[in-house]
Amino acid sequence: MSQFYLPTKVVFGKDCLKEFGGLITGFGKKALIVTGKSSAEKSGALSDLKEQLKKYNLSWHHYSDVEENPTLSIIKKGAEAFKEQECDFFVGIGGGSPIDAAKAMSALAANDMTIREIYNPNNIKKAYHIVAIPTTSGTGSEVTQYSVITDTENKKKAGFGSPLLFPKLSFLDPKYTLTLPLRGTRDTAIDALSHLLEGVYSKDRSPMLTPYIYRGVKLILDNLPKVQKEHLNYEIRENLQLASLYGGIVIAQTGTTLQHSIGYPLTTHHNLSHGEANGVVMKDIMELYTPAISKYLDDLFEGVGITKTEFFSWLEQWDFAPGLNLKEEFIIKSSEETMKSRNIALTPVSVTANDIQEILRKISR
Ligand code: NAP
Ligand code: ZN
Repeated sequence: MSQFYLPTKVVFGKDCLKEFGGLITGFGKKALIVTGKSSAEKSGALSDLKEQLKKYNLSWHHYSDVEENPTLSIIKKGAEAFKEQECDFFVGIGGGSPIDAAKAMSALAANDMTIREIYNPNNIKKAYHIVAIPTTSGTGSEVTQYSVITDTENKKKAGFGSPLLFPKLSFLDPKYTLTLPLRGTRDTAIDALSHLLEGVYSKDRSPMLTPYIYRGVKLILDNLPKVQKEHLNYEIRENLQLASLYGGIVIAQTGTTLQHSIGYPLTTHHNLSHGEANGVVMKDIMELYTPAISKYLDDLFEGVGITKTEFFSWLEQWDFAPGLNLKEEFIIKSSEETMKSRNIALTPVSVTANDIQEILRKISR
C-alpha cells in the first residue's frame, strides 16, 4: 500500500511567471525573497518576480546571503530579517540551497524553538507560505517537504521534513537554467537521477511513481550528454527540468536512502557538490542494493531500454571526483555518522558501517 501527497501548485513552462504571476497573490503582502549571491539576477528570475510583485502591489525585502549548502547561522539571520522587515511569506529563488533555506527560515520564524531544534520535525507546528522558483534542474526542492541544512559547528549536514514545508506554489521556467554552467548542470542532473533511483531503492517505493521514474531517468540519460554540446538549447533544458521535477515528486513520496546520506560527509569534509557526492557512489550503491531489489532494477532497465552495464558505462563518462583521497580516519568516522542518519531506515538492505566503509574505500583514489 502506498500514498501520494503533493500539495504544491506547479506551473511549468517558458515565461510561466509572467503568464501566471497572479497566482502569487493571497500568500501575504510582503515577501522575503531568499536567494544566493547572483544566480537569481543572472537567470532573470528575480526581475521577472519583481515585475509580478509590483503588478500585484506586493512589496519585498531581498535576502541574498545564502551560500551553497546553507548553514544554521544563515537560517537564523534570514528568519530574523523576515521578522524585522515585517514580511509575511517567503519566495526562494535559486538552486536547492536558497529554496531549502527559505523553508528552514519559514519553520524557524513561525515556531518558538532554538536553531538546532529545527532538525526535529515535531517542533515544526506552523510555517509561513513558501513560493519556489528553481534555477537549477536537480534538487526538486520546489515540490518536496524537505530542507537540508549544514551545522558548521558540528560539521554535519542533515535533512528534515514536514508536510508544512511543501511550497504552496512553484514556478518552473527552464529558461532560468540556461545560465547554469556545465559543471553545475551535470551535478544537478546527477542529483535528479539519484532522486529517481531512490524511488526504486526506497522501502517506500510505489507503483504510482513508476511512470515518473522511468521517464525521468530516460530524459537524463538522453539529455545530459546533449546539453554539454548545446548548453543554450531550451528544449534540452526543458527536458532536464522535467526530469528534476519528476525526481522531486518521487522523493517527496519515498524519501531517500543511503545513496543520499553517504554523500553528506563528502560534501561537508571534501567539498563535493551534492550531485557529485551522489554520482561518485552511484554504481557502488546500486551494486550493494542489487541482491535485495534485482527485480525492480531489471524492470527499471527494461523500462528505460538499456542494460545495467550500459548504465554503468554511461555513468563512467562523468568521471566524478577525480583525485578524491579519503583518509582512513574520515572513512571510519563518517561511516559511524552516516549510520545514524534517518535515511538508513528506508534503505532496501540492512546496512552496516562496514558496508559504508567499503564503498568509501572503493571511491578513494
Ligand atoms: P545550489 O547549491 O543552490 O547552487 C549551486 C551554485 O549554482 C551556486 O553557486 C549558485 O549561485 C549557482 N546557480 C544556481 N542556479 C544558477 C543559474 N541559473 N545560473 C548560474 N548559476 C546558478 O545548487 P543545487 O544543487 O540546486 O542545490 C544543492 C542543495 O540542495 C544542497 O544543499 C542539497 O543538499 C539540497 N537538496 C535538497 C533537496 C530537497 O528535497 N530539499 C533535495 C536534494 C538536494 P548563487 O549562489 O548565486 O545562487
Ligand atoms: Zn539529492
